[in-house]
Amino acid sequence: MSFPHLLRPLDLGFTTIKNRIMMGSMHTRMELIDRTYERLAAFYGERAKGSAGLIVTGGYAPNESGVIEAGAPVFDSEKDVPNHRIVTDRVHAEGGKILMQVLHTGRNAKIDQPVGASDIPSRINPCTPHILTSNEIEQTIEDFAQCSLLAKQADYDGVEIMASEGYLINQMLVTRTNNRTDEWGGSYENRMRFAIEIIRRVKEKVGDDFIIMYRISAIDLVEDGCTGAEIIQLAKALEKVGVTIFNTGIGWHEARIPTIAYMVPRAAWRFAIRNIAENVNIPVIASNRINTPEVAEDIVASGDAAMVSMARPMLADPHFARKVTNGEANEINTCIGCNQACLDFIFTDRVASCLVNPKAARELEFDEAVKNAGDKTIAVIGSGPAGLSAACTAAELGHTVTLFEAGSEIGGQLNLAKIVPDKTEFYEFIRYFDSQLKKYNVDIQLNTRVDANTLGGQFDEVIVATGIVPRTPDIPGIDHPSVMSYLDLLTGNVKAGKRVAVLGAGGIGFDVAVLLAHGKGDSAPDTDTFLLKWGVDTTMSEPGSLSRAGPCFPAPAHEITMLQRKPKSLGRSLGLTSGWVLRAELGAAGVHSVPGVTYQKIDDEGLHYSVNDEDKLLAVDSIVVCTGQDSDNALYQELTASGLNCRLIGGASEAKELDALAAVSQGMEVAANL
Ligand code: NAP
Ligand code: SF4
Repeated sequence: MSFPHLLRPLDLGFTTIKNRIMMGSMHTRMELIDRTYERLAAFYGERAKGSAGLIVTGGYAPNESGVIEAGAPVFDSEKDVPNHRIVTDRVHAEGGKILMQVLHTGRNAKIDQPVGASDIPSRINPCTPHILTSNEIEQTIEDFAQCSLLAKQADYDGVEIMASEGYLINQMLVTRTNNRTDEWGGSYENRMRFAIEIIRRVKEKVGDDFIIMYRISAIDLVEDGCTGAEIIQLAKALEKVGVTIFNTGIGWHEARIPTIAYMVPRAAWRFAIRNIAENVNIPVIASNRINTPEVAEDIVASGDAAMVSMARPMLADPHFARKVTNGEANEINTCIGCNQACLDFIFTDRVASCLVNPKAARELEFDEAVKNAGDKTIAVIGSGPAGLSAACTAAELGHTVTLFEAGSEIGGQLNLAKIVPDKTEFYEFIRYFDSQLKKYNVDIQLNTRVDANTLGGQFDEVIVATGIVPRTPDIPGIDHPSVMSYLDLLTGNVKAGKRVAVLGAGGIGFDVAVLLAHGKGDSAPDTDTFLLKWGVDTTMSEPGSLSRAGPCFPAPAHEITMLQRKPKSLGRSLGLTSGWVLRAELGAAGVHSVPGVTYQKIDDEGLHYSVNDEDKLLAVDSIVVCTGQDSDNALYQELTASGLNCRLIGGASEAKELDALAAVSQGMEVAANL
């Protein structure tokens, strides 16, 4: 497929952007660790080298009260200009353009005393905000303008004024968060004034030859949020006072509708972006769950937006745009929407990275880790995420690699993930690895079991990545015909009856429960079904675009009970940004949760267990065992016993650590250090 619309330059009058692919803003927390500007320069420089048309930095607060969290960056002084130039110089040297995001988080700030339009606390930050006085509002507007001027002095190509996701500018706009009675509250005209004054004053300071991007909330998805008509009214007013280009945000952070996780269909929100694009005369950028060039091309070609913003996809593949340009789209490492190493890291006070690309935001470490050009012969055994990652990295570094796989296809546990409802994005990860194996001439030996004899003497290095085996818990009756492993259920080898007990409530227990509730996930999630299910008003006539009928989840296919031994509530180990969605889905499906159990036995009556020493019987037709995994390291033991020197990685080395993120990362690190 070709991508003519995506690759067409965008002429903004005083400057031209070389294509329609933007790396959207993402908070990485790199600002909070050592070598900040060196790291940021390497991070954004790599994306500029990868031909991103435009890059937007993470948020810089215009004053101390606007930070995301204590210690997060503020840009309010000329003394920081030289540091920012380290970043802008690097991006420009690579032929890119970069905007700095100016962000005031308002009541969402994780600091002792956040500020807000009113004293209404947020669902995600219970601290009561200090009500900004008129003078403080005037000063905040001035701070936005001054921060933008500093960005210009630091040679950024423009600023993005962050006004979506429920941050301060958004908070001033709606009655949900603004119950003021002065000139900043009351009528919608008054509530729009803060946004309009910011743009007017920024424009006065920075002049005409500097991009002013305004990130507008295209749909709020919260009670008492804007209607579609109000959003258009605001956009038109902002266009008049000097916005160059609109970027879009989808939903407030506190919305109870998923907006970017993997269960959101690709480009699900384009109807909300179209609502703005059809009503203004300046370019509009689409965002959220746009992760492939095909989807991006379709959006730009249709006129729903002039450009496409991809933040996480640029973590996943810094060379996304270059690959599109060079006809190598099949080699793009696609963001699978898992949030596991980006948002979940950020929200748990870690520096962001990426499950499919652990180099993201670790560019310096990985570059420094590679000691020698590869010239060895390497055997990698096992083609799950750890083995694939090791094989591709080693081959890319110049080693001659043979990949042995006992099964008939590559992917290992990734092949299971893609069966789970809404996790079809995992196909992309396997497709990416497949493209890299071919590109770097890895010799793939499928249906091949190796032993010490077949390997002996042939290879300089042997990497064992034989993965895991499901753990069988020691429960009397575990071999009863009603019991099945999650592997057999997911692969379709067995079917569950009407009433099902799920033993174990980790990531796989939840995946299995979702599969049981909603059926097999062999096709990508459908947008209309998704929007209806979560109660989105696509006419955008209701406040916040929440439908009056509310969410409408389908009836579950099974009666499901999930159990775990820990006395805590179920699902605590799930990712912060996707766990609540799974819990909501399973809650709507009437799934029962039983923590604190002691398993006693399984027989024809069902599952016998106790809670607080009280005996219980769960009469079920099927019992699905999702009780974790043990390492499959038998081959490693055999090889080392025969004197072969091997490296053990992935689940085979530490099943407790089994997750794709750790496996991919470890495979890459081992291969870089051969
Ligand atoms: P897990 O997260 O370790 O969960 C295993 C579950 O089994 C726990 O609920 C544990 O709870 C129970 N269990 C463990 N040993 C047991 C035993 N001997 N007898 C009875 N129950 C036992 O493992 P998983 O669910 O298989 O997930 C594996 C990996 O896949 C995880 O590392 C996860 O990161 C990844 N994954 C993540 C997601 C996601 O985040 N959405 C989805 C899929 C997979 P009790 O000990 O309290 O009973
Ligand atoms: Fe995308 Fe997952 Fe990587 Fe985040 S961690 S950028 S969601 S693939």
